[in-house]
Amino acid sequence: MVGPLPVARQMGYRQFKDSDDDIIDEGLAVFFPLPASFTGEDVVELHGHGGPVVCDLLLARTLELGARHARAGEFSQRAYLNDRMDLAQAEGVADLIDSTTTEAARAAVRSMIGEFSVRVHDLVTALTELRIHVEAAIDFPEEEIDFLEDDALLGRLDDVSQKFDSLQAATRQGAILREGMTIVLAGKPNAGKSSLMNRLTGEETAIVTHLPGTTRDLLRERISIDGMPLHVIDTAGLRDDADIVEEEGIRRARRAMAKADRVLVVVDASDWLDEMLDEIRRDLPDDVPMTLIRNKIDLVGERAGECKAGGGVTQLNVSALTGDGIEALRRHLEECIGFQSGESGALSARRRHLASLEKARCHLDEGCRQLEEFKAGELMAEELRLAQQALGEITGEVSRDELLGRIFSSFCIGK
Ligand code: GDP
Repeated sequence: MVGPLPVARQMGYRQFKDSDDDIIDEGLAVFFPLPASFTGEDVVELHGHGGPVVCDLLLARTLELGARHARAGEFSQRAYLNDRMDLAQAEGVADLIDSTTTEAARAAVRSMIGEFSVRVHDLVTALTELRIHVEAAIDFPEEEIDFLEDDALLGRLDDVSQKFDSLQAATRQGAILREGMTIVLAGKPNAGKSSLMNRLTGEETAIVTHLPGTTRDLLRERISIDGMPLHVIDTAGLRDDADIVEEEGIRRARRAMAKADRVLVVVDASDWLDEMLDEIRRDLPDDVPMTLIRNKIDLVGERAGECKAGGGVTQLNVSALTGDGIEALRRHLEECIGFQSGESGALSARRRHLASLEKARCHLDEGCRQLEEFKAGELMAEELRLAQQALGEITGEVSRDELLGRIFSSFCIGK
């Protein structure tokens, strides 16, 4: 198709030809011989002019010559299977491509180049040392010094525990950067939901009018607060005398609320009574956290910012019209999800990573309890082993095939 391959890792000008020797396109070809390629296998890249028809023709020719389409994530999967990268790194590749903010991209790169994996390996090593210590104590119970009670062991435990804390914090931030937070704006028509959405997004996305019931469908908007992606959903006003179109909007609003990280219930501060809170609560799904946004604060002459309300619900005074209190709302949202802006060491992570870290941490804690309460060194050693195993799931040293299939199938094709 391209004639003789160029020298390894150097671009060579080539004509790309079909089976009749007709030129499909011309461009550059690069050959990456194994094992130093991305996948660890022989790879040839063709750099052409693009365009859907030309690409189709080129692809058709490669298929004719025996290639097949890659499955989603297959390149990264092969890289992982050929030991070119571990699982956390491969996932970093996908996260980098999918990242929606600069900060998320930075966190993904750190994971991709192996920072996350190095920290996990560090923990595994520290756990190994602990195990050696504990198992030595079990094997030589007649030794004079009680290994299980000496300061060295306690020091090591402290060290491992701190390592866990800092890695869990970095990955939690990374997971927030990756996934962001979904908030739903709910409330009666004319409370100012659309105006608030516009304030938050800084754009005129929602239609603002003084007529009740303008927003009939869900409006979705993606913004970022200090790099944390925020998915904002503006809902149809919840009201009883809605027409049919609006009813469908309300149904969708309820579904969206059930899945949200937080619901912001927007009310008009100029006709708000505290007794209305119960009614609002009844309207919302049970276990979704909510914040009461008292909008139009400019009309009642109260101060913008946060204040606590009865019933344990956070109330925030804002004015979508003047922008007062909007910054406090942004900070409030960051706090709710535990996002620390300005934190520069975030590592891109997924829920499965957080779960594995948490599992490992639980085994460590359980091991410590066994040691403290029962002096059960054997049980502690076993818990440490399980903790190591949980960490191994992150980098893919102990991962089941079915898990791998699930991870890589979520990547995009060609990566
Ligand atoms: P929605 O139906 O809840 O989406 O409400 P809108 O955003 O469409 O706002 C309804 C009306 O209230 C519009 O005329 C807005 O200009 C007005 N409004 C919204 N926020 C404020 C505010 O903070 N102060 C004042 N004075 N008016 C507001």
